[in-house]
Amino acid sequence: MEPEAPAIDGIRITMESALTARDRVGVQDFVLLENYTSEAAFIENLKKRFKENLIYTYIGSVLVSVNPYKELEIYSKQHMERYRGVSFYEVSPHIYAIADNSYRSLRTERKDQCILISGESGAGKTEASKKILQYYAVTCPASDQVETVKDRLLQSNPVLEAFGNAKTLRNDNSSRFGKYMDVQFDYKGAPVGGHILNYLLEKSRVVHQNHGERNFHIFYQLLEGGEEDLLRRMGLDKNAQNYQYLVKGQCARVSSINDKNEWKVVRKALAVINFNDDDVEELLSIVASVLHLGNVQFATDEQGNAQVTTENQIKYLARLLSVDSTVLRESLIHKKIIAKGEELNSPLNLEQAAYARDALAKAIYGRTFSWLVSKINKSLTYKGRDLLSLGNASVIGLLDIYGFEVFQHNSFEQFCINYCNEKLQQLFIELTLKSEQDEYESEGIAWEPVQYFNNKIICDLVEEKFKGIISILDEECLRPGEATDMTFLEKLENTVKNHPHFVTHKLGDQKTRKSLGRDEFRLLHYAGEVNYSVVGFLDKNNDLLFRNLKEVMCESGNPIIHQCFDRSELTDKKRPETAATQFKTSVSKLMEILMSKEPSYVRCIKPNDAKQPARFDEVLIRHQVKYLGLIENVRVRRAGFAYRRKYEFFLQRYKPLCPETWPNWNGRAQDGVLILVKTLGYKPEEYKMGRTKIFIRFPKTLFATEDALEER
Ligand code: ADP
Ligand code: MG
Repeated sequence: MEPEAPAIDGIRITMESALTARDRVGVQDFVLLENYTSEAAFIENLKKRFKENLIYTYIGSVLVSVNPYKELEIYSKQHMERYRGVSFYEVSPHIYAIADNSYRSLRTERKDQCILISGESGAGKTEASKKILQYYAVTCPASDQVETVKDRLLQSNPVLEAFGNAKTLRNDNSSRFGKYMDVQFDYKGAPVGGHILNYLLEKSRVVHQNHGERNFHIFYQLLEGGEEDLLRRMGLDKNAQNYQYLVKGQCARVSSINDKNEWKVVRKALAVINFNDDDVEELLSIVASVLHLGNVQFATDEQGNAQVTTENQIKYLARLLSVDSTVLRESLIHKKIIAKGEELNSPLNLEQAAYARDALAKAIYGRTFSWLVSKINKSLTYKGRDLLSLGNASVIGLLDIYGFEVFQHNSFEQFCINYCNEKLQQLFIELTLKSEQDEYESEGIAWEPVQYFNNKIICDLVEEKFKGIISILDEECLRPGEATDMTFLEKLENTVKNHPHFVTHKLGDQKTRKSLGRDEFRLLHYAGEVNYSVVGFLDKNNDLLFRNLKEVMCESGNPIIHQCFDRSELTDKKRPETAATQFKTSVSKLMEILMSKEPSYVRCIKPNDAKQPARFDEVLIRHQVKYLGLIENVRVRRAGFAYRRKYEFFLQRYKPLCPETWPNWNGRAQDGVLILVKTLGYKPEEYKMGRTKIFIRFPKTLFATEDALEER
């Protein structure tokens, strides 16, 4: 495919006369759309470009990206070179331009950067973040230790994906956790280290998958790729059908996934990030033990108490986790209660035992995942030291996090994810407006306030102390035995009933009642309405693991498990933080991190649900444009001036249009531009002269100038 013409050549969309190439490919900055508040015009422009394989378009400095679902020839080393050190707007939109621009700002302004990538599942977020990393790996200067760090930064991906990604209906390689990754650069601009923060792994997938979905990749990779003696040692056979935790979705094999090859990739990657043979064996033992746990079954005895019927599984579990088999067996079917200072082992019934087993599987897997992240982080430190704490590294952060989710059925997970997006939107609006304002100020142009929807009210509704939804949920979790999901809903109704962004079946009018279940509450998010079913909220928020199972794990001889389950948990009298509160805390920390940096944005869009190239599903896309707040984004960018350009660039391009500036202007660029625009007949309300840039209010002024250039 031909590379796109340079930015300035692509700015025009409408021309009554001939259909030029530019009409065909649309504008490469939505800000230049004449009808900039129109969703239809936005989508039309996106579609035109998508048809031409131009998947990238700007909104000012925000990059909008549409997943092509096919390999495009735009990621070669030559392409990377083309974006190195060039001015952002002078080349066609590209993920490399965003990467390079952040890097330049980091180098010249010495300000930490972050790149926020958002979009729904399958929109291309993870691919985008990988492309950015590759760009830095190839184009940044090298220094002594850099090659290993570059490798480790890149190789951490396949490992985290093996353990944290899964096939879902929406994406064959869907990240089931949020990820923020710092890439650290030294004073020469060489990448020398990194650090990863992970958010909210979807642990429930370990024990249950919906139809057409899979468990995390690593399970299938181990079974498909694992060497015979390894599998034998772990008591596994190759057939995924034999494992209860792998059969729920009824789709162990996926045509787009080659588990056997991936296994090799992951094994190599583990070596790069400093795993020795023992580490690998211990890690895989845990993976295997989860599979065995899934096959542990129970039957009831005469008293109605659960008994383990699968002794073989217990044997392997005990070996893989290095725990005592009798203690493990008993812990799976009893619950330890401490009453009046005495310990009592109360037997579990069938349902409770299955619950305890699944809780253990989720806890083991979830904690191992966090352990994995910290192990990777250790391998990403600079010569074993934390560069940041030494104060001589600068940072580009990459945020690859789940976008707004609205399903038929929304639960606790969607509630958390959408809350996070609400916070990110708040940050986005604040920072975009602020950077607009800053630019106007630094250019000496009067700031004109922009009207926008401030979603703080929704963030408060979720997170406020005492009155927020999370705090009410936590309160209910403090009343074990009495509180239920439905009492939580009632409490919500009593506490936040008059909130304009909250409604339930009981509180709503007739129309609302029709569209809301009795076990649901609805939040009016900035991006739209979402109904959440409260079923499972208490359980998921408590995230309980019975005490005796914790005790067994603390005794584990598997060093990883041993590190994951600390004895202090058993003696600590303080109640562990709930899942929602933990999440709230980590989101708020994330906001602080992002606030301290200069942001860039990549907004990813999924063109169709079939994961197919060349299909542009307008209904689906319209949804995303709305949820991503893109029209609002254009509006904010356009509130003042549609176009701004450094005097030098402007003069260079349009100087042929004025005898005084052609062929050369010897004075200050700003003076040249002033003479130029006078000659062109710009009216005073059409433009403003800043300190270093000209600001043009309407696209049509610019289009007319472009026309003049062409007709010359
Ligand atoms: P997300 O992280 O947003 O859920 P991914 O980044 O995993 O989505 O993308 C889903 C799939 O779409 C990828 O596995 C890949 O097949 C395809 N894809 C995404 N971005 C691109 C791209 N720029 N070029 C080619 N294919 C892409
Ligand atoms: Mg992803």
